[in-house]
Amino acid sequence: MSSGNSREQISIVPVNSIDASFLTRLGLCLEERFLAPFLVRAPVRMPKTALNGVRGQLFAGALVARLATSYPPKEGYVLGITDYDLYKTSARYIFGEGDPVTRIALVSRHRLSPDFYGEQPDENVLFQRTLKEAVRSIGHAFGLHNCLNQRCAMHHADSIFETDNRLSHLCDGCEKRARAQRS
Ligand SMILES: [Zn+2]
Repeated sequence: MSSGNSREQISIVPVNSIDASFLTRLGLCLEERFLAPFLVRAPVRMPKTALNGVRGQLFAGALVARLATSYPPKEGYVLGITDYDLYKTSARYIFGEGDPVTRIALVSRHRLSPDFYGEQPDENVLFQRTLKEAVRSIGHAFGLHNCLNQRCAMHHADSIFETDNRLSHLCDGCEKRARAQRS
């Protein structure tokens, strides 16, 4: 942890169990986009009893707190990936979020899976959507804001249609801002 670069690593932390090859593939794509090395870390355990009993969802703040305890911010950026459905005080559900203060980003695969919408399960669609949400959430943790460019990964998405319409890359403007954050 002596060089400045090591602070920028992205720790990918599964909640409970997520397929290891999925996480490695995700990490390689994030490494390419953010020029930050990734590390797949040991999972954090969140039992079903951690869910809000009425909503059947996990409070995003509870997951952030859990990740911050297991992986303190000084070790770089943290991306938590969960299959639980996430919600916030201000939102009925979220695909993901990221915070530049905690440097913690989250992505829920719950509403990214085609079977959630009554379609056939498709690993590749699930992966592409997860990648887009991961880029946006980590982008926020890097200090990037919502982008007006509808094709940019930082464009705000409320629906799966908007997610599908975006690319998994940053636009030139966001790319420049991300570079400025790193230097
Ligand atoms: Zn952009």
